[in-house]
Amino acid sequence: DLPLSELDPEVASIITREKDRQFRGLELIASENFTSKAVMQAVGSCLTNKYSEGLPGKRYYGGNEFIDESEVLCQQRALAAFGLDPKEWGVNVQPHSGSPANFAVYTALLQPHDRIMGLDLAHGGHLTHGFQTPKRRVSATSVYFESMPYRLDESTGLVDYDTLEKNAALFRPKLIIAGASAYARDFDYARMRKIADSIDAFLMADMAHISGLVAAGVVQSPFPHCHIVTTTTHKSLRGPRGGVIFFRKTEHNGINIETAINQAVFPGLQGGPHNHTIGGLAVALKQAATPAFKEYQRQVVANSRALAGRLLELGYTLVSGGTDNHLALVDLRPNGIDGARVEKVLDLVSITLNKNSVPGDKSAVTPGGVRIGSPALTTRGFQEDDFVRVAELIHEGVQLTIKAKASCPGPKVKDFLEYVDSDSFSERATLED
Ligand code: PLP
Repeated sequence: DLPLSELDPEVASIITREKDRQFRGLELIASENFTSKAVMQAVGSCLTNKYSEGLPGKRYYGGNEFIDESEVLCQQRALAAFGLDPKEWGVNVQPHSGSPANFAVYTALLQPHDRIMGLDLAHGGHLTHGFQTPKRRVSATSVYFESMPYRLDESTGLVDYDTLEKNAALFRPKLIIAGASAYARDFDYARMRKIADSIDAFLMADMAHISGLVAAGVVQSPFPHCHIVTTTTHKSLRGPRGGVIFFRKTEHNGINIETAINQAVFPGLQGGPHNHTIGGLAVALKQAATPAFKEYQRQVVANSRALAGRLLELGYTLVSGGTDNHLALVDLRPNGIDGARVEKVLDLVSITLNKNSVPGDKSAVTPGGVRIGSPALTTRGFQEDDFVRVAELIHEGVQLTIKAKASCPGPKVKDFLEYVDSDSFSERATLED
């Protein structure tokens, strides 16, 4: 067999350039991280060659003795990472990613057109929690189920549990989802469980963003309060791209949760598990059990607080006024600029973050904020002082964006994106320094 560089120089070159981009820039996307070499080795291994539909010991293909061992090890380590008793909790490590994990839960527990309540996308929720616009049901979740979002209290930037409680009593969802993609504070899982119990609903937490922090005990654990917990594996948990569903081994509303979840994943939604990912996840979960991982997660939060603190000193407005986890959500509207333009200019100077809606935003295409996360740069060894400097560099980028907007010939974001890519952008020399 030829090595990649000889067999396919085009793909080899793309990988080399992407690796260079990842290492050259400041990676601040809150949902990204750098996984370990050991995880990459497992993911790039022969485990990818094997079909293994079914669960360990109950497969539809032969030759699975080692794959079974890998999946069982992964399951055991997943339960151990979150301190779960295998008599009370089970886990399915086969979902191909976070979105299919969530959809598997919905199809396991609900009938088509049953009702759900999740945090509104515009207020920090995820697409899979039921996103729809007035014109269109966007996410498959809102196509197949009836969704009524709950929202933040715009005056505090915190989840408005009182309105959630009132609306849940009227809407009577069968499932309530705790969890977010852009929320800098902990959820009140106990309160949400009370609300769910009052209407006999299931409570699911989607801890995709914070699962590493939960494993290390630096934020609250959703497990004591939830029937189901889902997560991606590639964000703060620092594993390969994948998804996991944890479930209580009980019955609720006449549904055996374990059977329903396992059947929803396969044969309901998926075929063969991605065994290379499951192997890589087992490695990541071994790493998650170490004192170094706990220290890393403590540093992730300390860094995000240092970043948020410096941004506040520089006069920025943060949704909820600060952070208790790995991210900060900056509302740029008081600065007279938007997230789309700032994201673009920062990209040009190798600072990678993402534009993000903030409560009260009119447009999702030109949202008023940016989301900034600390997990990836913490993996690269950044500490509080470094994140103070990162905040200052972001500030310089915002100042530059404001100037560029003033000199841009057209009013639209599209005009701005073209302008800053062009030679007529007068600050280009500064960017190229
Ligand atoms: N859930 C939450 C809260 C997320 O933030 C994300 C991804 O960003 C997902 C689910 C979906 O994960 P994936 O992109 O792996 O499908």
